[in-house]
Amino acid sequence: MAATAIIGGGITGLAAAYELTKAGAEIVLVEAEPRLGGVIETEVVEGCVLEGGPDSFLAAKPAAEELIRELGLGSELISSLDEQRVTYVVRGGRLVPLPDGLMMMVPTRVLPLALSPLLGWGTKLRMGLEYFRRPRPAVRDRSVAEFIADHYGQEAVDYLAEPLLAGVYGGSPDRLSVESVLTRFAELERTYGSLTRGVLAARRAARARGGETAPLFRTLKNGLAQLTEELEKRIRPRARIVHARALAVEACDGGYRVVLDGGEIQAPGVILACP
Ligand SMILES: Cc1cc2nc3c(=O)[nH]c(=O)nc-3n(C[C@H](O)[C@H](O)[C@H](O)COP(=O)(O)OP(=O)(O)OC[C@H]3O[C@@H](n4cnc5c(N)ncnc54)[C@H](O)[C@@H]3O)c2cc1C
Repeated sequence: MAATAIIGGGITGLAAAYELTKAGAEIVLVEAEPRLGGVIETEVVEGCVLEGGPDSFLAAKPAAEELIRELGLGSELISSLDEQRVTYVVRGGRLVPLPDGLMMMVPTRVLPLALSPLLGWGTKLRMGLEYFRRPRPAVRDRSVAEFIADHYGQEAVDYLAEPLLAGVYGGSPDRLSVESVLTRFAELERTYGSLTRGVLAARRAARARGGETAPLFRTLKNGLAQLTEELEKRIRPRARIVHARALAVEACDGGYRVVLDGGEIQAPGVILACP
């Protein structure tokens, strides 16, 4: 029983399998569905790239881009055209555009925020005054909802954080950890107190370094499945892929027994890469 078992063949399991096989380890990848890739699924219909799940990743988090470049797909990377990008949020049964200058849910321009019908005057005022917030003593990790409500109020949670993060993480801001999903904002809060001041300072620093401000999102020209398919191509010759549902993982002598819906496998270690 030499091979490490990875349960789940989405991007998490595929990335783990790639790293382990690259390091020379033996692995067995267990995936319940006939297809690898998990929620990443791209279709090309009449020349149009359609994403069935995620369509991009945050440029500020370097891991995905590093992996893409390592796999030789760097020339396939494209960036969001943030100046032209418009995101709409439903309010009162109507589509309302997000005001210009928002960095996720952090406002950086006064006029578009002031003129936006998306938020009430109380929230707009609070968002403006947040600029003067000073760093406070460190607190435990909080939910995204608590964090954004603390900075900008509940309306900003309902009409900015919730719609934006539901799209990216498929989860509720009440249950998402700020240290995990908004790491950069948590750091800016520790340094500056105000998220708005922090984002503006980071932008100024990027300009001073001579760089353009980075785009918010990156993706691959032909969809994110390019990444999962390339990972699969690299892994296949070096790994055993079993299409079965894992039902249980039990400790046994020298490792673990993974009970499948058609048999079982034994492994010295198990990586759970499924929700
Ligand atoms: C609609 C949607 C849009 C999103 N948009 C974005 C976005 O634009 N940008 C972004 O960064 N993130 C986005 N996300 C989040 C991101 O897609 C996920 O965080 C990420 O793809 C999860 O990958 P994963 O491998 O951990 O899980 P999954 O992709 O869910 O893969 C888990 C795999 O495990 C398999 N599995 C489950 N149970 C078992 C079992 N018992 N035995 C064997 N196999 C099993 C499943 O079949 C699946 O293939 C989005 C999510 C959704 C749902």
